Amino acid sequence: MKAFQLIAPGKTELRDIDVPEPGPGQVLLKVSGCGVCHSDLHLLHMERMPFPMTLGHEPSGQVAAIGPDVTGWEIGQYAICHIVWGCGVCRQCATGAENACQRFPRGLVPGPGLGYPGAMAEYLLVPGRALVPLGDLDPVDSAPLADAALTPYHAIDRSLELLTPTATVVVIGVGGLGHMAVQILRAITGSRIVAVDLDEAKLEAARGYGADESVVSGPDSAQAILELTRGVGADVVLDFVGANPTLALGAAVVSSYGNLTVAGLAGGELPFAAASPPVGLPWGATVSKPYAGTRRDLHEVLALARQGRIKVHVERHPLADAADVLHRLEEGRIQGRAVLVP
Ligand code: NAD
Ligand code: ZN
Ligand code: ZN
Repeated sequence: MKAFQLIAPGKTELRDIDVPEPGPGQVLLKVSGCGVCHSDLHLLHMERMPFPMTLGHEPSGQVAAIGPDVTGWEIGQYAICHIVWGCGVCRQCATGAENACQRFPRGLVPGPGLGYPGAMAEYLLVPGRALVPLGDLDPVDSAPLADAALTPYHAIDRSLELLTPTATVVVIGVGGLGHMAVQILRAITGSRIVAVDLDEAKLEAARGYGADESVVSGPDSAQAILELTRGVGADVVLDFVGANPTLALGAAVVSSYGNLTVAGLAGGELPFAAASPPVGLPWGATVSKPYAGTRRDLHEVLALARQGRIKVHVERHPLADAADVLHRLEEGRIQGRAVLVP
């Protein structure tokens, strides 16, 4: 089969490799689509990886073969894949929170294209328990629900108590994850949504998905958001960039006892000052760094998609164009999410 592999730092290749066979507990999926995530770009620039590694961690597909000890699945069924593969049996995994699996201390839980062979390929091996039936949802366009919707859903769900109709939530970076975050916030909360991005076209799209306000990211954005909230700041800030300027923006606009939630992985750093405001964060503010989501979150994301309340804006591309698609993502030239179709 064809597989798009990371073969050295910064180097990728579309290669011919053997189709894997499912072992005990495993299912072989014929990949329908695989979303292209900005994390794939971060992986591309990492020095130490298990080379060669097939990339791709936003998979949907059709059951092609079933290994021993797997129940509940039939050949030909369409499914989406939960993308963090913990041990499946620890206290966290028992609740579906494989993203917090205790077998992998302090968070280094692998998944497809994140340690295991990924879904930018014609076939993908997955643990049977990671699959959730897609039902009537389009198998190609649904692929990004596995991460671009799951990760913001998980981040939002953790702050749900703060996301009342009186609250303001700021979404920084309305690309693949952010354009889903805006829709999820619109679907499950009554809060006022402020979208922030460098790209005016993405801000315009975000208003279409339900953002109430949009702010161009730059030196004046903190002031603009404070003015929008009469100096109080935002109850929740969701940062889908994670660079120094966005972390500083989040810290400057999060309200007292608000949540600054950073899902972006651009490698920025936020200094922490143990001092009274106005130095550093306001009193009671919480900073967190959530990872992907739980298996239960994935079920809830699929329910929102089935109800038609969230929809990924998809650009379809052939798997053979993976390198070019990654390049376009790096240049900010993808609207919504690109999905590779093998
Ligand atoms: P994307 O490239 O699709 O979107 C990023 C958006 O951020 C773009 O719209 C871009 O214009 C905007 N942006 C860039 N710099 C900005 C700035 N200074 N201010 C405001 N906006 C800015 O990326 P994506 O696939 O949505 O991923 C976003 C981030 O989330 C990446 O760092 C990715 O690695 C990370 N991620 C984390 C998790 C997790 O579990 N924590 C999961 C998936 C992705
Ligand atoms: Zn991702
Ligand atoms: Zn576990």
